[in-house]
Amino acid sequence: MRRKIVAGNWKMNTTPQEGVNLVKGIAELKKDICSCVELIVCPPFTHLSCVINAAKETGIAVGAQNCADHESGAYTGEVAAKMLKSIDTEYVILGHSERRQYYGETAETLNSKMALAFANGLKPIYCVGERLEQREAGQHFDVVKQQIEEVVFNLNEEQFSQLIIAYEPVWAIGTGKTATAEQAQEIHAHIRRVLANKFGVAAQDTPILYGGSCKPSNAAELFAKEDVDGGLIGGAALKAEDFIGIAKAF
Ligand code: PEP
Repeated sequence: MRRKIVAGNWKMNTTPQEGVNLVKGIAELKKDICSCVELIVCPPFTHLSCVINAAKETGIAVGAQNCADHESGAYTGEVAAKMLKSIDTEYVILGHSERRQYYGETAETLNSKMALAFANGLKPIYCVGERLEQREAGQHFDVVKQQIEEVVFNLNEEQFSQLIIAYEPVWAIGTGKTATAEQAQEIHAHIRRVLANKFGVAAQDTPILYGGSCKPSNAAELFAKEDVDGGLIGGAALKAEDFIGIAKAF
């Protein structure tokens, strides 16, 4: 049985107080979902400490949305993996398409971030996914294969066993367009085959989350697919009822 995970990417939304209220709201509603579902929330850096504090003893894990590709030093505006770990951050999202697109993240920077995340005891949620023109050109299988090979294939087995993958087609993120459950299953199964090429049977245990306009009304259909192990949720993660509504799909 693979882990079932619903993770919220709050992006650049909420104030620290709103973030604390949100996590408390999620904690209150958590009794309505299967205890088999793991919940993770990823607030902005400024709220990590207070959200981690508010999430204590709720069973909700907290992650960051990014970390620096250097250990420490003269990198104005960056936040190091070590700093995140020092305040008990558990997860870190790496390679989100918005970071790749707007902040020029490349395989090289992502390899550094991944290595630093693991070296400091953070568990990465690594995002892959094709842009619309790549899907229209039938390149989506190759695009995600490359995004996996150039970063995930550099991990050792121990690191790989801690990894979560999120498949997020860029054309579905924040657009209201969702991949069909069949499209999601097809590419999740492909991702698992690619992972198995390198890591063998261990790939059977890797949680592969779907992300892209996932909401309470479409989560059940997506999560019913064999290789869809949960979701990385953007917009719908900003309301406790919606986030829990998605987790209820399991
Ligand atoms: C995301 O950016 O990780 C995401 C899935 O966003 P949304 O759910 O808003 O499409």
